[in-house]
Parts: sequence; C-alpha cells; structure tokens
Amino acid sequence: MKILQNPPHFLLSTAIHHPSSNSLKRSLCWQVLLLVVAAVIFSGCTSSSQDLDSAQADRPPNIVFIFADDLGYGDLGCYGATDIKTPHIDQLAQQGIRFTDFYSVSPVCTPSRYGLLTGRYPVRDGVHRGVFFPESWTGMDTAEITLAQVLQQRGYATGIIGKWHLGHHRQYLPLQRGFDYYFGIPYSNDMEAVVYLRGNEVVDEAVDQRQNVKTYTQEALQFIEAHQEEPFFLYLPHAMPHVPIYASEEFQGTSQRGLYGDVIQEMDWSVGQIVSKLQALGLEENTMLVFTSDNGPWRTMIELGGSPGKLRAGKQTTFEGGMRVPCLVQWKAGIKPGQVIEGMHNMMDWFPTLAHLAGGQLPTDRPIDGEDISAVLQQGGKRKGQQLAYYSIYTGDLAAFRSGDWKLKLPMERPYGGRYGFEGEEAHGMLLFNLKEDPGEQQNLAEKHPEKVAQLQKEIEAFKASLGVLPPPKKMKEPADRSHEEYLKKKYGSS
Ligand code: MG
Repeated sequence: MKILQNPPHFLLSTAIHHPSSNSLKRSLCWQVLLLVVAAVIFSGCTSSSQDLDSAQADRPPNIVFIFADDLGYGDLGCYGATDIKTPHIDQLAQQGIRFTDFYSVSPVCTPSRYGLLTGRYPVRDGVHRGVFFPESWTGMDTAEITLAQVLQQRGYATGIIGKWHLGHHRQYLPLQRGFDYYFGIPYSNDMEAVVYLRGNEVVDEAVDQRQNVKTYTQEALQFIEAHQEEPFFLYLPHAMPHVPIYASEEFQGTSQRGLYGDVIQEMDWSVGQIVSKLQALGLEENTMLVFTSDNGPWRTMIELGGSPGKLRAGKQTTFEGGMRVPCLVQWKAGIKPGQVIEGMHNMMDWFPTLAHLAGGQLPTDRPIDGEDISAVLQQGGKRKGQQLAYYSIYTGDLAAFRSGDWKLKLPMERPYGGRYGFEGEEAHGMLLFNLKEDPGEQQNLAEKHPEKVAQLQKEIEAFKASLGVLPPPKKMKEPADRSHEEYLKKKYGSS
C-alpha cells in the first residue's frame, strides 16, 4: 500500500459537504464507495496507468542524462538546423524546456564533465587545463563528491554508459565514484587504446565504432528495464559526434550534412528508443530526460565537426561557440511543455538541482558553484546568478567573463586554428560584446563602453577572490622523453 501524500480532490470535496439527513445517508454511501474505489486504486493491486502514475509520484524522478560530445549549438532541428533531422530530440523541446543560453563550464571534455558531476568550477580541482589521456596517471580527485554518489546515497540505481574521461586508473573509474554500473570507452574515441570497459575490466579491445551508438543504446535500454522498479540515474555520455565519427550502415547517407549529420540522426534515433522504452514501462511521466553537449563543435575538423549556428568559433575556444550548448529537458510530471528559457544557466547547476529533486544531501564542507534551478524548471524564470567565468584550456587562466548581457573577453596572445587550412581565430586584444544584441560576437564595444570594461574587470577580480586558494593545474600528461633521438640525430643526421 503506497502512502497517499496528497489526497485526490474528490475525497476533499466530500469532506466539506453539509447536506440534509437523506442526502447525508446518500453522501455517506458515496463516501464509502469512493473510499473503496480509492483503496483499490492506491493498493498496488492493479496495473492501470493511474496506478503507475501514483506509484511514480511516490518516488523521486528517474533521471536520464544524455550527454553528446562536441555537438554544436547549430546541429539540432530545434536550434535551427535544416540539414539534420532530429525529430525525437526536438520532441523533448516541445514537451519540456529548450534553453537558449545554456553553458558548459569548459570548451573541452574533461573539465566539462567535472563541472557536471561535481557542481564546481574545474579550476577547484586543477582539471581545467586540457583533458586526460591514456598516458595520464591522475584523475578527478577522489575526495570530490559526485552527483552519482549523492543519488546513490538516496537509493538510486546509478549507471553510466559511455565516456567517463575523469581518469582511467582504477580508483578514478565510475564504480569507485558513485556508479553501480559502467560500460563504455573510458576516454575520447580518438585516443590510443580505444577499449570498452565493463565495470573496472576491459572487455573488448577491438571496438567497432560504427556500432557505438547502437551498442550504447542497447545497454541503456537494458539498464532502464533492469531498474524500472526503483529510482534510477542513467548517465549516457556518448562518444559521438567527437571525431573520429561513425554511423552504422543503416544511418549512413541519411542526412543532408554528410557523415556528421548521419551520426546526429543516429543519436536522435537513440533518444527515440529511450523515450519509447520509458513509455512502454510506464515511466515516461516521472522521468527527467536531459539532452545536452559537453562543449561546442570541433570547427577545425571542418565537415567532420559540427556547427555553432549563429555563434562564433567552437570547441577549445572561449568564444560562445565553444561553451554555449543545446540543452533540452523533458519531465512530464514536473515541468510544463513548450517552454523556451533565456536566462544564463550552466552545467554545474545540475548537481544541486538534481540532488534537490531527488531529496539528496549536498556536501556542506566545500563550495558548490552551481545553483539549484529546480524552481526555474518547475515555474519558469531564470537562475539568480547571471555570471559565468570562462577558462582557457591553453593557459589555465580566466579568459572571459559574462555578466548578464555583457561579455568581456580578455586579450588572447595565441591564435586558434589553422589546421587543414581552416580559418581560425587571430590573437586579439580586449573584446567586449553585448550578447543579447550580438550573439555572434562581431561588434567589439570595448572602446565605446570603457565603463562596462571596467565594471566587468571588477567583477572578475571579485569572482577570483571568491574562489580562495586553488590547487595547481593537474598535469594531464608529460611530453615523452626524446633526448635519445635528439642525440642520434645530431650525431648521425636524420634519415
Ligand atoms: Mg567534448
């Protein structure tokens, strides 16, 4: 018997009635009848949809968090793409929320995932300067508390299927970080030694990446099926569309944007499969589905990378294309359909938000930089804080800062791009943009509005001071020692 927290309206309405004696008897009969009906409905004896709904209402929402890798702001139908069809992902927007100004906290994979899973700026663990490699001996600090740990403590079944990329030595792997289940490639799919792990063990050393989206989808469906009777958190960080990109035979040639579009269409199919499974199991109503990306598109990969749409540049840069990402949320039991939310929100917000919705406990011994946006999801509006710091992956320094509509991009000495003839970004001086009027960052207003530059510089100083003492950046990997080759080249010449 489920505990009825909020009695239905028809029970409340009988309790406040004051009829005459005959009608009182009739009313009592009705009350008895209604109570019997209510008891049957809420006893867990039937399998009607009302019963499933009430059973779901008694437990916190399931969470399915789908994380694309290097998907651009302009790569989905609901964000304006016309050459890639994404009906299932677009459906999430129709049935829930589409964010216009949602940010990753880094323009590359590792720090972005750190921000999502801890709710903290990656600079707090020194993981903001690049990504981990199979050569990395370190990982996300084991003292960090992950979203999976918070949900696991709350009784959630926690699974990750896909890319981890927060350290691949045993102590850093998902099973030691709050996940009950892991299957996937532990880092990027362009790195040496692409393997599938199951739990802590390598189970496949010959990964066929053409089948990757299908394989992960199959695993995801099995996880949902296996945990349908309990609250679950399924984190699905796809390897795609990070290069090298692959689609299965069924999806090759199906889009109007070459192989890249085919890959996105297969990922869209995957979303459709997950939604269908949730529907079939009667779980769709009380499952929060999030679809977003870890960072912007890898523009220097030309047609093998995605599109930032109206935004400037892409992955690895602190222009908008690097860090502003698509983000869609569907949760039928909790949020209204068809909303477009424009305020600034970011990946760190999921940690306190999902912890709150699950009834979990946030750590109190460390700063959490994300903000609980559950009220935004459920009632609209926007997050209180409207600021974001952007960090360079090359220098590790704060490189840009957005406050409201204004963004200050600090001088950048190093040009970006240039590979394969791709026109990248030149080194630049101080840049000031009004993103509301100029989301493409084309009009530098620094000279016209020196007072805004000064104001944002002050905000940057205050923000940096608020972080306190920080650890040094972690060494992601060291260059190999080639001194023997230098010696031989010098002595015998290069052949
Ligand atoms: Mg990425």
